[in-house]
Amino acid sequence: MRVCQRTHKGLVRANNQDSLLVADKLYGVADGMGGHRGGETASRIAVESVIAALKNKTPGESALRLAVEAANRRIYETAAENESLQGMGTTLTFLWEGEGKALIAHVGDSRAYRLREGKLEQLTLDHSMVAELLRNNVITPEMAKTHPYRNIITRAVGIDPVVEADVIQTEVKPGDRWLMCSDGLYNMVEDAKIHKTLMEMDDEKAADRLMEMALENGGTDNITIVICQSEVAEA
Ligand code: MN
Repeated sequence: MRVCQRTHKGLVRANNQDSLLVADKLYGVADGMGGHRGGETASRIAVESVIAALKNKTPGESALRLAVEAANRRIYETAAENESLQGMGTTLTFLWEGEGKALIAHVGDSRAYRLREGKLEQLTLDHSMVAELLRNNVITPEMAKTHPYRNIITRAVGIDPVVEADVIQTEVKPGDRWLMCSDGLYNMVEDAKIHKTLMEMDDEKAADRLMEMALENGGTDNITIVICQSEVAEA
């Protein structure tokens, strides 16, 4: 696939704890959390170990799960050995491209979207307190926007000795476009605006415009955007 990627620390945070996960046939993001250098360390380890684990492998669910487990173990063990990194963890959402299909691994509150035939669909479920409250109809979408627990995630890589990733399998059709992003994008830019931007612009321009809107709307978190699509012969 053809890919374009952006990451920005935003306007409020002192550093960028997000990491891009972009390598051969791999497209995604990791959004780290933890004090000192914990967040950026966790997201970097996740990205490095996934890339190493999946290099030259044929896309399949068991290899994918093993890669996420390996990342989890490395972060967990690194944290156990370093006082200042204790409690670090990261989200991890990435697409692994196969022949006519794609696998998506997902832990945490980063997201994968697919734009197909003019429709934007969020493929991943947020592993966050607020998303769970919403899914159980405990709160309204309006309440979710300002909920005091909106930063609490319910699943992350590296926090516990084992982690279970959601794995999504999807076919890849010509013209499909994929967006993987951290919450720094979707908390600042509504889905409808993301949709409109992708419809109106090519990947490079859309990535720039989405980043610009996230910053205009406050840029209160790190922002990471990966947009990719199959390379098909242009008509
Ligand atoms: Mn974030």
